[in-house]
Amino acid sequence: MSARHDGQSAVGGVVYLIHLERPYRHARHYLGFTADLSRRISEHRCGAGSPLLRAAGSVGIDFEVVRTWPGDRRLERRLHNYKNTPARLCPVCRGETSPATGQPLPTGPAMPSQAATP
Ligand SMILES: [Zn+2]
Repeated sequence: MSARHDGQSAVGGVVYLIHLERPYRHARHYLGFTADLSRRISEHRCGAGSPLLRAAGSVGIDFEVVRTWPGDRRLERRLHNYKNTPARLCPVCRGETSPATGQPLPTGPAMPSQAATP
């Protein structure tokens, strides 16, 4: 690299993985890159930015961002190589989080019982 503009080397943005509530045709995930995630998701919710998400939305399929990675488009491209095995990337498909809440599921013993009242 010949350019030396230190301070411009901030993280380029964020790579995000969207999991569709139900599969749309054969697709259940969307991987994208943005410098402004919340704005990008708003666009997706309006049907902009992704034909897949617009099509899914038009038939009533909801979606959510299930995972993000700070990075750049090179990372996005690398992660795209996993698109045939999205379960390796997607915590929902791996059963690690609840699709309903997006919260991590408790591991190990099930729900701790309510503390007994003394
Ligand atoms: Zn998934």
